[in-house]
Amino acid sequence: PTGEPEGILMHASNEYAPGIENSARINATLLALVRNEEVDGMVQAMRDLERTWNHKFNYPWTFFNDVPFSEEFKTKTQNETKAECKYELIPKEHWEMPSWINKDLYDESIKLLLDEKIQYADKISYHQMCRWNSGMFYKHPALADTQFYWRVEPNVHFFCDVDYDVFRYMQDNNKTYGFTINLYDAPQSIPTLWPETLKFLAEHPEYIHENNAMDWLTDSIRRPDHNKKANGYSTCHFWSNFEIADMRFWRSKAYDDYFNHLDRAGGFFYERWGDAPVHSIGLGLFEDSSRIHWFRDIGYQHVPFLNCPNSNKCKGCTAGKPFEGESFLQKEDCRPNWFKFVGMG
Ligand code: GDP
Ligand code: MN
Repeated sequence: PTGEPEGILMHASNEYAPGIENSARINATLLALVRNEEVDGMVQAMRDLERTWNHKFNYPWTFFNDVPFSEEFKTKTQNETKAECKYELIPKEHWEMPSWINKDLYDESIKLLLDEKIQYADKISYHQMCRWNSGMFYKHPALADTQFYWRVEPNVHFFCDVDYDVFRYMQDNNKTYGFTINLYDAPQSIPTLWPETLKFLAEHPEYIHENNAMDWLTDSIRRPDHNKKANGYSTCHFWSNFEIADMRFWRSKAYDDYFNHLDRAGGFFYERWGDAPVHSIGLGLFEDSSRIHWFRDIGYQHVPFLNCPNSNKCKGCTAGKPFEGESFLQKEDCRPNWFKFVGMG
């Protein structure tokens, strides 16, 4: 596909392979926000990730829920791994709609979002989930001593054997954030996200990293209508249902101030700001773009999008068709922009 960089070396050496010296585990966890009803989808996703990767490393799993996990959920998920599983309840103050959100304004705003055909706009829990993933999960006491995480959702698929410790890779190569898929967003879900971001930047120009990804964030060449409707933001974002990342970035003063600014502005409820564009804008502005890594070698699918490497380590996906079969989905791919503006990272 267009824009794919040439000559990227896969990890041919066993520098990160298990069972050799220096293979002690990194301070990291697999992490899932999930509902009890999704246990079967969670088991399926775990089975894929355990088979292709985690059985070699045994990183613990940490599950989060806004209600207590059922015994059935705990038993079925623990049965999928030799690693430790932890089941954590989200504190109310991290989940509930904040006091400054005006309920009438929320109800009015939702109607407009529904007119725009924004999926899940009328589900309060979806807004809460996006806010929690944007600015809350890494504040949970259960993660206080954890540095890296790999986010996993129910029903996702992993296709390729990965033989090295991806967390060690992140640490040794000074990476902050790893992604597989990079997409355009629905601009109607985030009309004031970029204007609020610019207000924040006017107050805090000192937070902008000199090697930022501003050109990727503000591109208007490929999809001018998206940029226009999102008031200056390309809408390009890392698809955050997959993330391998260092929580120190989310815990930094720059990102924390940014999240608090957005939270006060109310767009997690009056609009439907997703954690994907919020994380991506934060990273694109406040992080060195060379610390963002495309895991081209991790075959991954969250319907309808796919990252499928051309490798004999992968089974069950077709390489060379990022968004399998569905050519109308190709225009949603923003990876070419990432490579064009920022290089490989
Ligand atoms: P989509 O990927 O945008 O379609 O959204 P999902 O329905 O997959 O939700 C994203 C993630 O948040 C998934 O891991 C869900 O299991 C989880 N999630 C969404 N809403 C809730 C909720 O109300 N409670 C809990 N515990 N998890 C949720
Ligand atoms: Mn999902």
